[in-house]
Amino acid sequence: MSKIFFRDRRFWLIVIAFSAIALAHYFSPQERAFGAYTLGRHTVERIAFILPIVGATCFFGARGGLSALALALIAMLPRVFFVSPNPADALIETLAVALVGYAVVWAIETQAREKRLRQELSARLEHAYRRLQMLYDTAQTLNATLEQQTVLDRLARATAHALSVRACSIRLLDETGARLNVAAAYGLSDAYIQKGDLILAQNPLARAVLAGEVIAIDDVARDQRLQYPMHAIAEGIRAMLSAPLIGKRGPLGLMRAYSTEPAHFSADDAIFLSAIASQGSIALENALAYRQLGKLDQMKSAFVLTVTHELRSPVSVIQSLLRTLNAGYAGEMDERQRDIAERALHRADFLQTLIGDLLDLAAGKSELGAEDATEISLSDAATQVVRRFQIPAEEKQIRLEQICKCRGAPIKTRAPRNGVDRVLNNLVSNAIKYTPAGGRVAVTVCCANDHAQIEIADTGIGIPDDAMPHLFEEFYRAPNAKLYEKEGTGLGLAITRDLVTRFGGRIAAQSKFGEGTTFVVTFPGA
Ligand code: ADP
Repeated sequence: MSKIFFRDRRFWLIVIAFSAIALAHYFSPQERAFGAYTLGRHTVERIAFILPIVGATCFFGARGGLSALALALIAMLPRVFFVSPNPADALIETLAVALVGYAVVWAIETQAREKRLRQELSARLEHAYRRLQMLYDTAQTLNATLEQQTVLDRLARATAHALSVRACSIRLLDETGARLNVAAAYGLSDAYIQKGDLILAQNPLARAVLAGEVIAIDDVARDQRLQYPMHAIAEGIRAMLSAPLIGKRGPLGLMRAYSTEPAHFSADDAIFLSAIASQGSIALENALAYRQLGKLDQMKSAFVLTVTHELRSPVSVIQSLLRTLNAGYAGEMDERQRDIAERALHRADFLQTLIGDLLDLAAGKSELGAEDATEISLSDAATQVVRRFQIPAEEKQIRLEQICKCRGAPIKTRAPRNGVDRVLNNLVSNAIKYTPAGGRVAVTVCCANDHAQIEIADTGIGIPDDAMPHLFEEFYRAPNAKLYEKEGTGLGLAITRDLVTRFGGRIAAQSKFGEGTTFVVTFPGA
């Protein structure tokens, strides 16, 4: 310490100034003239002692200033008692210098202390702000997905970055609730990750964390509570911080941050990790619920698929029997009987449509109907759908036309052929169905740099504003559509959106009630 002191140039500057003033105090002439004023009895040198006191306080703090003040007194007092012809005046001057010197030290030190406090406070505020920002960013990142593994991977990475440590791992309880398996890790070697599960019965530390405690291990080499201390040492880990992941129904697992420095984690870090773990628990629970929902939805779809499949054949048989009856092959029927048979056939046809829609919907969800994607020309697909619906449109006195807003290369996308046809069929048949006679339906193909669009616009009944949010829901039919056209399953748009999403595309609708509707399907470029 003293070595550093003696090497400091500022120290020697003060020593030289001090010695020069002390020498002047004893060997300079008695009086000096400053303009009209004359200062005598070494007053100037006494005042000059304030300078090294100020310097020492500025450079070395209050202790430096007080030491300089004590030295100044030691230098001045012999003169007061042994040399000065007027000791009383000299003593008063010396005490005045001491008083002023002390006031200067106090003022400088108070200011310096305030400055230090302000700096400390702003550093702490900045640190807290950075952490808050990180917490917010972590929450944003986690909420951006519902896929469980992505949530866990992002959580591990974000935690290691936010705490500025080497690694982080997340362990989740297995089905038995007796072990903790690694579910995600960041910054750890494969050997470390695969070292084995944490067995709760043998691990009091993990048990305490799952009970809600946040626990720091300052030195892995000395802590008896670890199940795999040697693995941690081999990995270069010196300190750990563990926090619980707790869901609504109890503990889900724990997360751990690892540092290569012993005693790295502070109380502040523990609070921070606990906050991240709370965010993580919510995101994890959402992802688990989403996964569960997905499984249930698939089970429901598989069930619907089986039931509707079983229904299809008997309904086909009923349709063909009714057609036979209507054609008179089973003998002549009177008017009333024919009317009943025709109505029955009509209902059976609708039932067959419903079965077809249900099968398509269920097949899409249970991924049984997945078909290979091929390169498709959207202009060709549009031409074909317009051709297919030309006669039904004419029968309803609707003008159906195709418009191409692309120049140059044909617009292509990669998608299953049947899927694209199904999408266009649904939208064009709806447009014709919900447009009164004399109206117009236009199928427009537009292209951009990396995607292509098909717009199906009609001048039909339109969709009420409050129906717009429900349009793609299964079995939903807007009230004006139900009035205008009795038959409809409300499944066509749900199937369409499902298909478009699976191609990597998007579908959107714009409508003005009573004036018409436009559906825009965006396909990714091939
Ligand atoms: P469906 O036509 O069998 O009722 P969809 O799923 O195809 O079922 O359509 C759902 C609902 O969306 C329709 O009932 C109707 O209210 C509305 N809709 C769809 N296309 C149009 C359109 N071109 N014009 C007006 N309404 C439409």
